[in-house]
Amino acid sequence: MAAHNHGPAQTVVVLGGGIGGVAAANRLRRRLDRRHRVILINRDPDFTFAASYLWVMSGRRRPNQVTRPLQSLQRRGIEVVIADIEAIDPVTRTVTAGGRQIAADHLIVSLGADYATDKIPGLQRAGETFATLTGALRLAPAVNAVTKGRVLVVTAAPLYRCPAAPYEAALLIDAALRHRGVRGNVDVAVHSAEPAPMGVAGANVSAAVTAILADRGIDYHPSHQITAAEPGRADFADGRSEAFDLLVYMPPIRLPDVVAASALASTSGWIDADRQTLATVFPGVYAIGDNTHLPLSIGKPLPRAGVFAHAQALVVADNIAASIQGASATARFDGHGGCYIETGFGKAGYGSGDFYAEPSPKVNIRRPARRWHLGKVAFEYNVMRRWL
Ligand SMILES: Cc1cc2nc3c(=O)[nH]c(=O)nc-3n(C[C@H](O)[C@H](O)[C@H](O)COP(=O)(O)OP(=O)(O)OC[C@H]3O[C@@H](n4cnc5c(N)ncnc54)[C@H](O)[C@@H]3O)c2cc1C
Repeated sequence: MAAHNHGPAQTVVVLGGGIGGVAAANRLRRRLDRRHRVILINRDPDFTFAASYLWVMSGRRRPNQVTRPLQSLQRRGIEVVIADIEAIDPVTRTVTAGGRQIAADHLIVSLGADYATDKIPGLQRAGETFATLTGALRLAPAVNAVTKGRVLVVTAAPLYRCPAAPYEAALLIDAALRHRGVRGNVDVAVHSAEPAPMGVAGANVSAAVTAILADRGIDYHPSHQITAAEPGRADFADGRSEAFDLLVYMPPIRLPDVVAASALASTSGWIDADRQTLATVFPGVYAIGDNTHLPLSIGKPLPRAGVFAHAQALVVADNIAASIQGASATARFDGHGGCYIETGFGKAGYGSGDFYAEPSPKVNIRRPARRWHLGKVAFEYNVMRRWL
C-alpha cells in the first residue's frame, strides 16, 4: 500500500517498457502516493512478452495473447510516454525523448539489449529467428513446411538473451516434427557458440540439458561458432560448413545505442551496477535487467532473463519508495532465480538456485514435468495480467 509522507513531490522516470520497466513502474505506483509522479518511457506502444515467443513459433499463442498496450498503465496512474529515448544524462538525471526533456529525481534504466545480427554476415537473410515476435510469427509456417532435410539451430554468440531459449527452440521444433510424423526424415542439430548449454548454471545443468537433447535425437555441437551464412549453407569458425533446409538462430546482443552513447556505458560493454541494489555510480540512477552487467564469481555475467529483470525491478522500486518516504532502503537482490526449459508435449524442466553463491552458482535442475510447464504459464500470467 502507498504510504503517505509530507516530503517534496518526487518524479521517478523508468526507461523501457519491457519486463523490468513495467514491473518497476507498477511497484512504485503501488508504494507511492499520487503526489509523486511515475513516468515510463518506451519506443513501442505495446509490451510484448518475449518468453512466450517460442509458443508463438509452435502455434500455442497468437500474437495478441502475448501483447498488451502500455497505455493501459495510465489507468493505474503511471504516465506513459511513447517515444524514442534519444539521450540520457545520468549526472543531471535528464532524459531526452521524442525531442522533449524529462528530468527525474530517481531514474531506472531498463532498456534491454539490442540484437547485433549483422555481426554474422548473411545470417539475417539466410535464417529465421524466434527472438522477436515478428520472427517467431515467420518461423511458425517455416517449421510447418519442413518435411525432410536438416534443421540447424545456432546461437550466434556465447552471450544472448535467455540461456535456455535456443535449446527450447530445438526441442519444440523436434516436438512439432514428431506431431506431424516427419521427424524420421529430418535431422535436427544445435550448434552453439558457447561450450555447454546454460553453462552459467553449472555442469550438472549443462549435463542434464545435453542428455535431454540426446534423448530426443538432437545432435549437439558445442563451441561451434557460426561465422557466416547464405541460403542453404552455414560456415563455422573451425572451417566446417553445414548444409540446411531451415536455419534458426539466436542473435548476438549489444547495449542499446542510446545507452552506449551515454556516460552509463562501462568498459564491460554494458551498464555496471551494484549486485544487490542495482545502483549505478551515478546517484539516484539504477540499472536493471538485460542492459546491466552483473559479474558472477565464475567470471561470467548473470544471465539475461526476465525473472531477474523482474526481481531487480521490485528491489529498486522498493528502495526508491523507501527513500522517498524517509525510511531505510533495505531491499536487496540476492541472485536467486529460475528458468523454465520447455521440452514440448506440455512439459518443461526447471533450473533454479542461487547465482550469487560462492565459489560458483548453486543451481538445481528438475526433470521435465507438466508442473514446470505450468510454472512458465504462471510467469506469463503474472506479468501479462498482473502488471498490464
Ligand atoms: C525468445 C526468448 C525467450 C525468453 N524466455 C525467457 C524465459 O522463459 N524466462 C525468462 O526469465 N526470460 C526469458 N527471456 C529473456 C527476457 O525476455 C529478458 O531477459 C527480459 O525481457 C529483460 O527485460 P528488460 O526490462 O531488461 O528488457 P526488455 O524486456 O527487452 O525491455 C526493454 C525495452 O526498452 C525499449 N527500448 C530500448 N531502447 C529504447 C529507446 N532508445 N527508446 C525507447 N525505448 C527503448 C525496448 O523497445 C523494450 O520495450 C527470453 C527472451 C527471448 C528473446
